[in-house]
Amino acid sequence: MTAVFDGHNDLLLRLFKAPEKREAIWLQGTEGGHLDLPRMRAGGFAGGLFAIYVPSPVLEDLDALHDAMHEPPYDVPLPPLMRADAALGVAMAQAGHFHWMERVSGGAFRCCRTVAEIRAAMAEGVIAGVLHMEGAEAIGPDLDALHLFAAMGLRSIGPVWSRPTIFGHGVPFRFPSGPDTGPGLTEAGVALVAECNRLRIMIDLSHLNEAGFRDVARLSDAPLVATHSNAHVVCASSRNLTDWQLGAIRGSGGMVGLNFATVFLRPDGRDDPVMGWEPVLRHLDHLIGALGEDHVGFGSDFDGAVVPRGIGDVAGLPALIGALRTHGFGEALIAKLARENWLAVLERTWGG
Ligand code: ZN
Repeated sequence: MTAVFDGHNDLLLRLFKAPEKREAIWLQGTEGGHLDLPRMRAGGFAGGLFAIYVPSPVLEDLDALHDAMHEPPYDVPLPPLMRADAALGVAMAQAGHFHWMERVSGGAFRCCRTVAEIRAAMAEGVIAGVLHMEGAEAIGPDLDALHLFAAMGLRSIGPVWSRPTIFGHGVPFRFPSGPDTGPGLTEAGVALVAECNRLRIMIDLSHLNEAGFRDVARLSDAPLVATHSNAHVVCASSRNLTDWQLGAIRGSGGMVGLNFATVFLRPDGRDDPVMGWEPVLRHLDHLIGALGEDHVGFGSDFDGAVVPRGIGDVAGLPALIGALRTHGFGEALIAKLARENWLAVLERTWGG
């Protein structure tokens, strides 16, 4: 089975929403969703970035968002900025779930901070988890919490989910739309980029608008990475990357993780899992053409999105790999897409 390292999932949010069921969710895998330990092993999920994400009190369970995305065109208003003191406890709780996952896994899951640790875990058949933060709501302008989360294992951060933060502005969930939807990074956002560079924490560009993307591209000394975004030319969502953005990512030695969300895959932008492999392959072909085959991987969005029926959940990764083989991708390219490109870009970002 092909081992996969994945750029994005929302399992920690699922655990946060139902902490009383967390053993059933994570260890027994009896609670549905996309990810749990038994199905990760069944699907060849060898590691990935696990996102801390703070839900808004409004738009609480994202149901309104998913309802709107069922009937394009749509333009869903974003929730307001959330203060760090309101977000910090939630972010801490999710970091706690992440370390709990390691503690109760009986050696099957390990929190990793370096690529050497990821490779060692994968070689032992241990799933390698990397702590990521999707939206920097929990970080105040003094950036002290960034250092605290770094000490807890945080190795990657997106300055924004789509809702605005004190650091910048994200794209709204809008289809069709380009990503040029508002102003760039704030002064605090500029400082965040510099501190992430100093700490060698990866900066995730997914969800950031175009002006913010240009600011990070100008300021950051690290490769430009979008952990879970697709090609705008195939699906005209505000969340997808234009050819100009793909060119900037390529020039920086960066990376894009293919998002499995149907709203970012399907040319019609619908939140509908009934679809074939063709849109998935079109995105991959375009991303590989624009970025080169060393700069594309997966960013599943498992447990955060509706995914194609052919994938279904993490146990469907072998079906995806099979579709790539049928499409004519060779084993060397599949290994790069499945894991090697992620490990290489993390090494370029974090240092050896
Ligand atoms: Zn996301």
